[in-house]
Amino acid sequence: MTWQEKLRKVEPYVAGEQPKIVNMIKLNTNENPYGPSLKIQEVIKSIDIDKLRLYPNSDAVDLRKALANYYHLEDEQVFIGNGSDEVLALTFLTFFNGKEPVLFPDITYSFYPVYCDLYQMDYKTVKLDDDFKINVEDFIQPNSGIIFPNPNAPTGLLEDLDFIETVLKNNPNSIVVVDEAYIDFGGESCIPLINKYDNLVVIQTYSKSRSLAGIRLGVALGNKEAISHLYDVKNSFNSYPIDYITQQIALASILDDQDTKQKCAKIIKTREKTKQKLKELGFVVPDSYANFVFVKHPDVDGQELFMALRKEGIIVRHWNKERIDQYLRITIGTDDQMDALLEFLEKYLRKNR
Ligand SMILES: *Cc1c(COP(=O)(O)O)cnc(C)c1O
Repeated sequence: MTWQEKLRKVEPYVAGEQPKIVNMIKLNTNENPYGPSLKIQEVIKSIDIDKLRLYPNSDAVDLRKALANYYHLEDEQVFIGNGSDEVLALTFLTFFNGKEPVLFPDITYSFYPVYCDLYQMDYKTVKLDDDFKINVEDFIQPNSGIIFPNPNAPTGLLEDLDFIETVLKNNPNSIVVVDEAYIDFGGESCIPLINKYDNLVVIQTYSKSRSLAGIRLGVALGNKEAISHLYDVKNSFNSYPIDYITQQIALASILDDQDTKQKCAKIIKTREKTKQKLKELGFVVPDSYANFVFVKHPDVDGQELFMALRKEGIIVRHWNKERIDQYLRITIGTDDQMDALLEFLEKYLRKNR
C-alpha cells in the first residue's frame, strides 16, 4: 500500500476569497464593515508581552466567567473555541456518533457536509421548501443529531422559538445544535431555552456582529454535562486553543456590548434599505435577518451578474450549486458601499435585461 492509499482524503471547505484588489468593495464573507470596539485598541497597547512566555489559561477562566455573565448562564455552561468553525468541528466530533444520519437543511452552511465527510459520518439533508423555509416535520425522523443555522445561511431566513422548541421536544435523544452566527442582526436567540432542554447546544461567533473575524473566537453554550463532554474532546485534541491575546481582546469586546449593539442597529438599517431598493430593481429578496441578503433577478443570470460585479471590483458570493445558482449572497456593507452596488446594478439592468 502506498502512502497515498493510506491517506484520509477529504474535499475541504472553500471559504469566500480574500482577494487583493485595490479599492474593492468586499461583500463576500459577511465581515462587519465597521471596526471593533475602540476599547480593544487600549487593551492591545497594554498587553504585557512577558505573559506570552507562558501557556495561556487553558480554560480561559476570566473570559468564560464574563461570557457566562453576559449570557446569564453558569461558567460550566460555556465552551470557548478558536472560531466557531472549530467549535462546530468539535461539536460534530463530540455529539454526532449514533448510527442514524445527522440531519441538516439541503441549503445551509456548506461546512456541515465537510465535517461529516471528514469524520466519515452519515448525513441526510432535509429539503427546504420553495420559499427556503424548513419543514419542521423533516426534523422528526431517526437521527444522530440535528444542526441548522438560525438565521439560516445563505438564505438569511429566521425560524422562531416555537419552531426550535418543536425540534427539541421531538428529539429528546439527540443533541440539537443551533448555529446562531447571525442572531445579533435582528433574530431572537434560543439561549433562554438551554435551561429547559438538556439536548440544546447553541453556537455563536465573534466574527460577524462583534467585528472580530481576525481573532477567531467562537462559543458553544449548553447544559453542563454536554459542555463538559465538549471540553473532554477539545482537551484530547488541543488543550490551548485560545491564546492569551485573544482572551484579552474578547473580554474587552464583551464589556463594550453597547458598541456592538449600535453597529448592529446600523447594519440592520442599511439592510432594510438595501432590501427595499433591490426589490424596486426587480430582485427576488427573501426576508433576511442576517448581515447579508440572498437575491436573484428573473432577467439576469446569477453567474454572469457575479462576474460583472467582480469586474467592477464589487466582490459578492455565488455558488454553482443546484437550487441556488441564480442567487448572489451580498454582505451588508456601509451605506456608501451599498449605494455603489445599487448604482451599478441599476446601470447593469438597464443595459442587460
Ligand atoms: C461565519 C459562520 C461561521 C463561522 O464563524 P467563525 O467563528 O468565523 O469560524 C459559522 N457558522 C455560520 C453559519 C457562519 O456563517
